Amino acid sequence: MKSNLELLTIETIAEGFRNEDFKPSEVMEAFLENIKVKSELNAYIDTYEDDAVSKAAEFDKLFKEGREDLPILSGIPISLKDIFLVKDKICTCGSKMLSNYVSNYDSTVKKRLDDQGVIILGKTNMDEFAMGSSTETSYFGPTLNPWDHERVPGGSSGGSAASVAGRLAVASIGTDTGGSIRQPASFCGIVGLKPTYGRVSRYGMVAFSSSLDQAGPLTHNVRDSAILLDTLSGFDNRDTTSLKLAPTKCYEALKKNDFSPSEFKIGIPYDLLREGLDSEIDQSFNLLVAQLEKMGFKIIDVSLPSSKYAVAIYYIIAPSEASSNLSRYDGIRYGFNEESTPETLEEFYVKNRSAGFGEEVKRRIMLGTYALSSGYYDAYYLKAIKVKRMMQKDFNEAFKKVDCILTPTSPELPFKLGEKKDNPLSMYLSDILTIPANLAELPSISIPFSISSSNLPIGLQLTSNKLCEDTLLKVSSILEREVGFKSKT
Ligand code: GLN
Repeated sequence: MKSNLELLTIETIAEGFRNEDFKPSEVMEAFLENIKVKSELNAYIDTYEDDAVSKAAEFDKLFKEGREDLPILSGIPISLKDIFLVKDKICTCGSKMLSNYVSNYDSTVKKRLDDQGVIILGKTNMDEFAMGSSTETSYFGPTLNPWDHERVPGGSSGGSAASVAGRLAVASIGTDTGGSIRQPASFCGIVGLKPTYGRVSRYGMVAFSSSLDQAGPLTHNVRDSAILLDTLSGFDNRDTTSLKLAPTKCYEALKKNDFSPSEFKIGIPYDLLREGLDSEIDQSFNLLVAQLEKMGFKIIDVSLPSSKYAVAIYYIIAPSEASSNLSRYDGIRYGFNEESTPETLEEFYVKNRSAGFGEEVKRRIMLGTYALSSGYYDAYYLKAIKVKRMMQKDFNEAFKKVDCILTPTSPELPFKLGEKKDNPLSMYLSDILTIPANLAELPSISIPFSISSSNLPIGLQLTSNKLCEDTLLKVSSILEREVGFKSKT
């Protein structure tokens, strides 16, 4: 086996296949080996070793034949958050409720990766039904942060982030409802991109909060994210919220490399950053801003006054939609059922749901059911939707002045396992900087830019106007080149 193949990116592996430096099966072997060696990370819920090995052998042949028409993702090993359906495979969504649920069709995300020749290594660990910021609410136990095994990898796509940072996959696909791609990317020192709401089809993706959920890539660099966004995006008539747009062409735009800092204006919402930032993150962020100004970016102070309500609004909207989406898991139509002989149907439902769901999920279902109940709907859900619109207006105003908005991704460094598990409010606050982009439906990315004195990664977050992924990725690639760091994992 050639050594260190698992350290490469999508772009460099694809190049290596074409130059015949190594074969798909050698790359596959390197990843499968690493998955075994680093099993203590608990990044995967399920792996597809046999399928992956036989697919890699098929690609060996195709590359040997010198096929020029193979897409760039051909033979590339990628992991999927266990929220995407893969036909005939179990999809648990991190829950006991779905621990034996076998999908009978493919999600659009899986299908589009397949069409480009991606090899799926397996399904990654996640917070139960994507509710959490640490991957500790998973029924399958927590995932460890590859930088420091005593710390969380973030969540809810923590298994995906750890699989990339720990070199157990070249890239991964996660989902982001309130920060679940960007916050774990930041905690694990990798790149995580949440596209504009509706860019990537939600067909075959287990629903948490349908008006906010969006799939996107977790990768080693910005170019790899562009490759995956181009692959996943584009209209899908099986998702009614899918935007009627062609796939993006961000990778080509990045390859041209014909853009420079002076073309872009970057806004900083200082009113959001005044309180609650870890002092080291604050310091490195201020240094970063000074550095960007020197590089030629125009830095402008912008105001997002309604964003201070983002967490409060999110914890009305997301649980409300979740309580409705999760009502289908009753142990009859779907999901786990308790082997018992109940007296009544109601007792049967209660038993199944109380044994099948974890604590955080139950908390959200109760919150959401309350917020939607008669008499409270106007006071909570409707009011939250109104504030969501105010936030969108603030962003519209800001984007009249700037191309991107810059903040740290998370107000804090990766925390210790168990540290916040019993304090849901403090866990909720860890998404304070990521949630606004979900509520405003905007594309947003996290890029690693600094390392703390305790040797933990710090991520920056850039957000652009709706459908401006092109600009977002251009600015990101400049920042990555100038201020990004080389991963230590
Ligand atoms: N941490 C947030 C929550 O628990 C966001 C989760 C997500 O983006 N899926 O709801």
